[in-house]
Amino acid sequence: MQLVLVVNSGSSSMKFQLIDIPNEKKLVRGLVEKIGMENSSYRIIAGNQIEEKQIEVKDHRQAVEIALDYLTHRSPVHLNSLSDIDGVGHRVVQGGSTFDKAAFVTPEVKEKIREYGIMAPLHNYANLAGIEACEALMPGIPQVVVFDTTFHQTMAPEVYHYGIPYKYYEKYRVRRYGAHGTSHKYVSEKAIEFLGVQAKGTKMIVCHLGNGSSITAIKDGKVVDTSMGFTPLEGLMMGTRSGDIDPAAVMFLMEQEHLTPKEMDEILNKKSGLLGVSGISNDMRELEDAMTCGNKRAELAHKMFIYRIKKTIGSYVAALNGLDVLVFTAGIGENNDYVREMICQDMDFFGIKLDAKINHGMDHLAEIGEKGAPVRILVVPTDEEMEIAKETEELVLSRSK
Ligand code: ADP
Repeated sequence: MQLVLVVNSGSSSMKFQLIDIPNEKKLVRGLVEKIGMENSSYRIIAGNQIEEKQIEVKDHRQAVEIALDYLTHRSPVHLNSLSDIDGVGHRVVQGGSTFDKAAFVTPEVKEKIREYGIMAPLHNYANLAGIEACEALMPGIPQVVVFDTTFHQTMAPEVYHYGIPYKYYEKYRVRRYGAHGTSHKYVSEKAIEFLGVQAKGTKMIVCHLGNGSSITAIKDGKVVDTSMGFTPLEGLMMGTRSGDIDPAAVMFLMEQEHLTPKEMDEILNKKSGLLGVSGISNDMRELEDAMTCGNKRAELAHKMFIYRIKKTIGSYVAALNGLDVLVFTAGIGENNDYVREMICQDMDFFGIKLDAKINHGMDHLAEIGEKGAPVRILVVPTDEEMEIAKETEELVLSRSK
């Protein structure tokens, strides 16, 4: 069995999955929560076996210890030793413009992750804590990093530059990087495989619609443009993020309300979007429940969410000079047929025609467009962990050849 352990460490949590790669099978999944806080706990699932505990977890090292202790002692998937694991794949959010593919962890790579932490402070340092814990506890086992920004590295300079003095790019590397790259890559490749077409020559738009949302335009299997920018704040309106806003409005609000950059950042990232406009929730299901009860602000937030997606799709059809495949993924994209219907409504000019009947209730890999329509529309469940595992295994195998 070829096994990869995927580790996704956040500032106060760590998720892990043990994946049997050739069979694309998830053997064990775990979540350690509230690391370094009161009430920390973990939950590990393997088949129908569940282990959960409230236990003090001081740091990421201890979280990794919990995972490894389970895997070597109590997991129904028997490991003789940790060396049964081919490699560990770590999710890293920001890889700047240095990494155009997955990389083995080295002191230089760690230094870069640290350096890029200035752009993703909530993520990169936590990712690094997970990496260092695994290095210490799993000596000799290859550690690999897979960056969320990698898939977007093919964007052209005119796409990723902002219209600000060039010196800020030179000094601070301020540019569009995008995010959700691992998801967009996995989903676009699954779509190509499902349709039995070649990536070369295919023009595709992937809508990753979750609590965080982004859209990516892909041609010949390569990213042409993506809606998130220097940080995940840019682009679509999201659960709690504003998405695009006139920067002058931000400065105006900071002046009027005497807000520090940190406070403004908190408003735009955590208190805006569906939550901020509706005043009800960042969760699309709760928003739709409120709409059903006639709540006008919930309806406004919903309409804004849809409108911005439509507008982005339109601009990406222009960027691609056409469209062959439109894909929906992530929590909302995979499960919310009403949102998909609203997005595809009045888009027939672009050849986008949804089959309302097939779309209804669809929540798995399937084609949901009208037969014979110019654009093929798909639902493709995303799986970032599987993508990380695949890229980790590929890199590990390439070294052992
Ligand atoms: P995150 O960006 O946090 O990973 P998700 O991809 O889980 O977010 O998406 C969260 C959103 O997806 C929420 O707005 C939620 O309403 C919606 N969602 C998730 N699961 C379902 C479901 N089974 N049915 C309808 N909506 C869902």
